[in-house]
Amino acid sequence: MHNKTLADIIAGLNRGDFSSVEITRHFLDRIQQLDGQYNSFITVTAEAALASAAAADQQRANGSVPLFCGVPMAHKDIFCTNGVRTSCGSKMLDNFVPPYDATVVENFANAGAVILGKTNMDEFAMGSSNETSYYGPVKNPWDTNCVPGGSSGGSAAAIAARLTPAATATDTGGSIRQPAALCGITGLKPTYGRVSRWGMIAFASSLDQGGPMARTAEDCALMLNVMASFDGKDSTSIDRPVPDYSNYLNQPLSGLKIGIPKEYFGEGLNPGTEQAVRDALAEYEKLGATLVEISLPHSNLAVPAYYVIAPAEASANLSRFDGVRYGYRCENPKDLRDLYMRTRGEGFGEEVKRRILVGAYCLSAGYYDAYYRKAQQARRLIKQDFVDAFQQVDVIMGPTSPSPAFGFGAKGNDPVAMYLEDIYTIATNLAGLPGMSVPCGLVDNKPVGLQIIGDYFDEALMLNMAHQFQQATDWHQRAPEGLA
Ligand code: GLN
Repeated sequence: MHNKTLADIIAGLNRGDFSSVEITRHFLDRIQQLDGQYNSFITVTAEAALASAAAADQQRANGSVPLFCGVPMAHKDIFCTNGVRTSCGSKMLDNFVPPYDATVVENFANAGAVILGKTNMDEFAMGSSNETSYYGPVKNPWDTNCVPGGSSGGSAAAIAARLTPAATATDTGGSIRQPAALCGITGLKPTYGRVSRWGMIAFASSLDQGGPMARTAEDCALMLNVMASFDGKDSTSIDRPVPDYSNYLNQPLSGLKIGIPKEYFGEGLNPGTEQAVRDALAEYEKLGATLVEISLPHSNLAVPAYYVIAPAEASANLSRFDGVRYGYRCENPKDLRDLYMRTRGEGFGEEVKRRILVGAYCLSAGYYDAYYRKAQQARRLIKQDFVDAFQQVDVIMGPTSPSPAFGFGAKGNDPVAMYLEDIYTIATNLAGLPGMSVPCGLVDNKPVGLQIIGDYFDEALMLNMAHQFQQATDWHQRAPEGLA
């Protein structure tokens, strides 16, 4: 039962092979039995899930239903859920129960989905290993001595362990794609503005984008159909029709040009990862596509530019957590200054504090031109590289991350080593482009991801390319031992 994809579950519910209560209970039981090992959920909403599953079964018995009616899934704990704690992985929001749903949550509710719970994540989505969560690290189901990637590591691990068929996630610099790669699942970061950010707790507003995670591209297409929408409550939401992504999944690939950036195959790339990616590219040639070597000459500026811009925006966004309006408040503050200092000192973890300090520094009057303005100029150059590349090719492919999952603590004392995890994913966020990760191999029995970068609003093409690959290979069907 737990090996079913979303597409299988929708078909099974429609045929009456099982009820929503049955399948929901199955996943809830699995979470209860197994998640002690992975820590992929922060909150499990068992009672509410069973109640909405029962309501879905009733609705189905009464007539026609929306596509996700009775389909179980999970939300990353960054999306506000009405009446259900939304912690963002932080002590600061450990007691925060939003009085409203994020637009993404509302879209899935309108489509009939049943929510199993909220998944674990790096604190305020800052991290690449899920080691910064206030609720403890998430373990990679492929090897519990290793990290699942981050920041959407809870969503990725829960899907890999078959505790949920799908989950929402967010990506500011790689947080959908990198954990998808490290956990052997499929994830898509859409074009900036495609999915509403309303009710999605802000990290770096010009980079944050919500997207789907599931085992297959076909399931990501089903989810994106629900997630993508124009939203007047998000000033950067784009008013553009949402295609039916599932309708584009069976297009031939002949004639398509795939750009291979030479900068993505240099120093620092694990040889096993490189081989798996090269094999995947050869598969695409068999499917009729042509490989074209390209250059993204400003690639080396992406990580440094991001680590100025993202902390700068974070320092502004996180200033709202002041112990006054909501969230954590220190005990017995002496005065207002003491309230601010101790609330923020006690409520935020180390990585979040590091980002706030860096961000406030880069934005301060004396340093703005030297850092923030420079970073924005670099961002423009990075974007132009992609604009030029998409004159020549239809999509760009390369590795998602430089190596398979690493051990806990492996990069603990070196923030820069951790930041380099996103060396291939960050540029797409700076440019606002869509990016995707697709399982393409195993190195030392740990999964590796192929990254597909598309032009603006080319999610349908990317999903089709991923789907064609998944029709020809079975990497996406592999499961950690004992979990299939
Ligand atoms: N790893 C990157 C960071 O720590 C990206 C995180 C993300 O995409 N949310 O900022």
